[in-house]
Amino acid sequence: HDLRNEDLKDIRELGQGNGGSVKKVEHLPTGTIMAKKIVLIDAKPSVRKQILRELQIMHDCHSDYIISFYGAFISDPNICICMEYMDKGSLDGIYKKIGPIDIDVVGKVALAVLEGLTYLYDVHRIIHRVMGTDIKPSNILFNSKGQIKICDFGVSGELINSIADTFVGTSTYMSPERIQGAQYTVKSDVWSLGISLIELALGRFPFADSESDDSDLSDFEGTLSPSRPNPLSLQKAKEQRDKKKKRKSKGVSLQGGGMTMSILELLQHIVNEPAPRLTPEGRFPKEAEDFVDSCLLKDPDARKTPKDLLKHPWIEHARSSTFDLEAWASTF
Ligand code: ADP
Ligand code: MG
Repeated sequence: HDLRNEDLKDIRELGQGNGGSVKKVEHLPTGTIMAKKIVLIDAKPSVRKQILRELQIMHDCHSDYIISFYGAFISDPNICICMEYMDKGSLDGIYKKIGPIDIDVVGKVALAVLEGLTYLYDVHRIIHRVMGTDIKPSNILFNSKGQIKICDFGVSGELINSIADTFVGTSTYMSPERIQGAQYTVKSDVWSLGISLIELALGRFPFADSESDDSDLSDFEGTLSPSRPNPLSLQKAKEQRDKKKKRKSKGVSLQGGGMTMSILELLQHIVNEPAPRLTPEGRFPKEAEDFVDSCLLKDPDARKTPKDLLKHPWIEHARSSTFDLEAWASTF
């Protein structure tokens, strides 16, 4: 039935992203626990209504690898999107808590993301309406049943446009061709998956150098644009860094008066340098190394689609593996 804000009781905040915040809530009439994403939209009522219409397609998405959708509504000046609550949170939170993720789990993550993407493209042709799915560890969710699901795929072109006005969508998970302005294709998501898998297996963002702290660069996601730096976001990013600096005494290469690697340098690095790999050599199964290499082919024409990658030996192995994700979930 129709969701109303009055029926939702806040339980706690789950996190904040660049476009808004996510809260754990209870739908009082039914007792259902949900995750409510609140997106501040500075747009005309007609645009808000259009966004709401576009979001309705999520009602038709039914897959074990896609977060379920309960409904969306306007709560001026926000749009609220209510979705399935995943009690173990996102994979970035998990590795920051427990350290590098077991490679068997990483294989199951790869399988789930490929299945989810293939479902979205094949069943709903979501790629044709929108700009992408934004694959990154914070958009891959996990629960205590051992399920892995993706969220925040761009079903609403209008929503993406509206957010882009305030938060320019330059992501450090972005493929070299998209950084260079090429059109979005399914192959771009495959690149983002490759970067995410290395991040999970190593327990740090792959582009940070090894002795420095991990996540600071990935935190720049969406906050900057090479062509249009947003002063407010810049300020926010700086505050976040300063906060981290206070919390951790460990030296971080990004900090200090000038950053060692700015977001611009990072984007240039992604375009010009060889892609990261699952290293050191020999630490991970050969099949895993090979899978990640094929996700991170810099030429999008050489990169495979999610559907083709489902046939990769490492993914077939993950599919038949008896690794117990539910048991693993109970360890943290
Ligand atoms: P981002 O994905 O960039 O971190 P979001 O606003 O999309 O920003 O989400 C903020 C955080 O809220 C995520 O990092 C994730 O940990 C948490 N979150 C989002 N959706 C859910 C959900 N359905 N269930 C549980 N936690 C969620
Ligand atoms: Mg998200």
